[in-house]
Amino acid sequence: MKLMFYGAAREVTGSCHCVEVNGKRILVDCGLQQGADNGFGQKFPFHAGEIDCVVVTHAHIDHTGRLPLLVKQGFKGSIFATEPTCRLLEIMLRDSAHIQELEAGWKSRKSKRAGDEGAEPLYTIADAERVFPLLVPCRHDTLIDISDGVNVKFTDAGHLLGSSYVEMWLKENGNRKKIVFSGDIGAPNHPMIRDPHYVKEADYVVMESTYGDRSHEKSFDTIASLAKVIDATLAKGGNVVCPSFAIGRTQDLLYYIREIKERGLVKSFPDFPVYLDSPLATACTRIYSADLREYLDDEALALIESGIDPLSFDGLRFVETADESKQLNDDWTPKVIISSSGMCEAGRIRHHLKHNLWRQDSSVVFTGFQASGTLGRILVDGEVNAVKLFGEEIALRCQIHNFRSMSSHADREGLLKWIDAFEKKPEKVFVVHGEKEICKMFTARLVGEGYNAMAPKYTSIHDLTTGDVVFEGRDLVLRAEQKADAVRERESAVYQRLLFAGTRLLEVITRNKGGANKDLAKFADQIDAMIKKWDR
Ligand SMILES: [Zn+2]
Repeated sequence: MKLMFYGAAREVTGSCHCVEVNGKRILVDCGLQQGADNGFGQKFPFHAGEIDCVVVTHAHIDHTGRLPLLVKQGFKGSIFATEPTCRLLEIMLRDSAHIQELEAGWKSRKSKRAGDEGAEPLYTIADAERVFPLLVPCRHDTLIDISDGVNVKFTDAGHLLGSSYVEMWLKENGNRKKIVFSGDIGAPNHPMIRDPHYVKEADYVVMESTYGDRSHEKSFDTIASLAKVIDATLAKGGNVVCPSFAIGRTQDLLYYIREIKERGLVKSFPDFPVYLDSPLATACTRIYSADLREYLDDEALALIESGIDPLSFDGLRFVETADESKQLNDDWTPKVIISSSGMCEAGRIRHHLKHNLWRQDSSVVFTGFQASGTLGRILVDGEVNAVKLFGEEIALRCQIHNFRSMSSHADREGLLKWIDAFEKKPEKVFVVHGEKEICKMFTARLVGEGYNAMAPKYTSIHDLTTGDVVFEGRDLVLRAEQKADAVRERESAVYQRLLFAGTRLLEVITRNKGGANKDLAKFADQIDAMIKKWDR
């Protein structure tokens, strides 16, 4: 009875854990690596054909994006997930494959021009389509027999439509253990979906720690704040650009904007147009409107009962073609544009950023987590004056807002509340799905609270019968992190030299006090010329 960590170990994306019981191997999530390169890329540290089945916590691509690769490399077993997750996966994986094909096409053309061989996509749409017949739709709160001696139950995680914790009961040679995988833990009071549930019993817990270092502002009024940004931006004649994940944040934004319009909170332009410029997000929004009522919360159901579509309003337009998308940038009517990808790594959002980042009258509103190394993270951190988009230098002059309170991840208090809900402290808590330092920090916090907690390393193996670490695994050093550190070090050393030269100049000036006026004037002229040259 063993547990292995094959992804999201001391990093946020690429979730992939494995349980081995009675000679069978079960994967929990099979996510795509996003943003910074961890040095292993998208490679599996195992043979896909050796995996017997997969259990999926929720549809986000960092938990599911390598399923087509798994199938491409020989996996033939069942993939268990809730019904909404299965429906969302068909859209998400097809889109992910489409992006892989496009990117490989660009790389191929570029490398062929350089006289090299063409690039292969990680997987194709055909590979993605081979995943769908393997999906087994399951219901929340129902015990399912998935393998010899293994039962699972999906419990509502309140993070996304259909999102779940996986409770897993294991039986091997008379030993019984229960392990709970948190997937992503939701935050309360989220539109449309129910609040996160709590689990009471486990021998082992694998939990996320995305926001293990911070608290979301509790008194933050999302609707009022969003309305204020929209009102102020449209009044100036600018656009509000929202980079948004196709599932989750997009529907939250639509839900809030419907209410903003109903309450008339945007005085400068009450009938403002809203463009949902992402066919993927549009398809996902239709899933929310489909007959999945048992997964919705009471407020959403009450709206539906009274004949109101919670995700629709006057002025909402769905942009389908790339040409229509481009035309949005030729139209100077102030507007709200919701587009993906959420971390600005690909997709139409990059065009909208190109046309709005340089405009003082426009605003960009972030609503979700931005992984290290992504364009989204660079914009949120705000440490640069310009970014490169489509080979062009774009100045950053617009207003950038980060609505962390809209995050669908629990904050530090939410994570602690979740783990404290277990009636008895688990034998061990494995902390995953957090940036390295945050993972360590949150683990230390749990240890301080009396938990036996650890942040497992990539490829580490743990014996669940004895609780021993069988193999330590290895620590990931992000290539981008290494590179950024080296650049920072070089930059700061040179800057220190410059500062030192500046103080020496001041010393030389004071030593020249009382010198001939002719010499002092010449010296001053030379310094002025130097300032003129460098003050840019
Ligand atoms: Zn997620």
